[in-house]
Amino acid sequence: MKTIKAQFGFKGGVHPQYHKDLAAEQPIERLPLPKTLAISMSQHLGAPAKCLVQKGDVVAKGQLIGERNGFISANVHSPAAGTVAAIEPRMGPVGNWTDAVILETAEDQSGEAAFMPPLDWKSASVDELRARVNDAGLCGMGGAGFPTVVKLTPPPDKHCEFLVLNGAECEPYLTSDYRNMREHADRIRLGVEIMRKILSGPAVRIAIEANKPAAIEAMEKAFADIDGNVEIVVLPTLYPQGSEKHQIYACTKRLVPPGALPISVGCVVENISTVAAIADAVEKGKPLIERVTTVSGDGIVRPCNILAPIGTSYADLVAFAGGEKEGVRKVISGGPMMGFNVPNLQIATTKTTSGLLLFTAASVFQYSSEPCINCGSCVRACPMQLNPAYISRAVEANDIAMAESFGVMNCLECGACSFSCPAYRDVTQFCRRAKASLRAAAAAAKAKAAAAKEGLKV
Ligand code: SF4
Ligand code: SF4
Repeated sequence: MKTIKAQFGFKGGVHPQYHKDLAAEQPIERLPLPKTLAISMSQHLGAPAKCLVQKGDVVAKGQLIGERNGFISANVHSPAAGTVAAIEPRMGPVGNWTDAVILETAEDQSGEAAFMPPLDWKSASVDELRARVNDAGLCGMGGAGFPTVVKLTPPPDKHCEFLVLNGAECEPYLTSDYRNMREHADRIRLGVEIMRKILSGPAVRIAIEANKPAAIEAMEKAFADIDGNVEIVVLPTLYPQGSEKHQIYACTKRLVPPGALPISVGCVVENISTVAAIADAVEKGKPLIERVTTVSGDGIVRPCNILAPIGTSYADLVAFAGGEKEGVRKVISGGPMMGFNVPNLQIATTKTTSGLLLFTAASVFQYSSEPCINCGSCVRACPMQLNPAYISRAVEANDIAMAESFGVMNCLECGACSFSCPAYRDVTQFCRRAKASLRAAAAAAKAKAAAAKEGLKV
């Protein structure tokens, strides 16, 4: 194992103020079990899980309560013993409404958890390990929530040559991956061993930004005696370094074509906290029922990193972090660059909730956007070499086809263009709008084609 500096950089990117110091030195703290949890059936990319419980059911900690419901989907488990009080639509962190199991947690949690039997990863077959990753409901915990078992099942004509561990955590304020690297390096190492076995021994690249020397040191210690082709790749501190495509390039000099998955260039990328969760699923039989969330910003009394059951309300997280300061103006789920404003604290955490940020008026910039002045800042900032100014103007003119021709579907929604715009144009939001519109049109066309086919059969 060796540590190297990234040899291949990318054009574009920005340097926001990181503010990681607020929570970086706060060790992970476990939240006392909340009285109520709201466990969404849609915490991952793809189809929502099929709910398996009804109002009044008594469930055990770790019990399967939502079943994977399609190729891109994931199981959901109960984070605690308790009684199902209701199944009702709840607003999620990105404003989507999905069915959630409202669980009144039992006061006595001493009963046996419904975990799966522990697996010895060395003697278990690849199929058994893959099945375990599926059964445990694992998905990417860095934000996108892509089901892990799908990543670990490359198509028959593809081979994973590089397993890239994403430890960049380039979003300002967030420190949950950082704390996991420092405090659970052994779990990450075990997760890597398991993934290497499933993927037939790829080379491993552990990608960490240079502004996290303590995490780099922790990884160096944990992986010091590992066999095989394993490198820690120290990335320059540059947003959005955590983007999957840019990490692959930094670690392997391979370019993922537009619209393609990393496996198309022989790579699998996984978030570092998910890798630790794989170790727990295999060695302890523990499904993904809890995660670390950073609660930070100048509007919170005690910025910290909280290990909480999935389904914990933001209000419970804020209370544990000492409460909110006076004059909070903005609450963001996730990081400030790619996260979403949330309207209240009744929203509950999911498997992908990496951060919850509260900001007072002092750090919320009030602005009104102006017409584009053609300065080109957004073009220089875009890590995908798009022209965000053209895209935003096309969307303003309601010409979505034009936005598509400018490559908007390759947009990462990273926010670097909005961040760099002196006219305060929310360029990223224009890109999101165009992408949503194009996706909706594609789905409608697909449904129409399916209906026509059905009609022909009849
Ligand atoms: S949000 Fe999209 S258009 Fe804007 S900088 Fe990021 S990738 Fe480029
Ligand atoms: S940064 Fe803003 S003002 Fe400058 S070209 Fe881009 S959209 Fe226009």
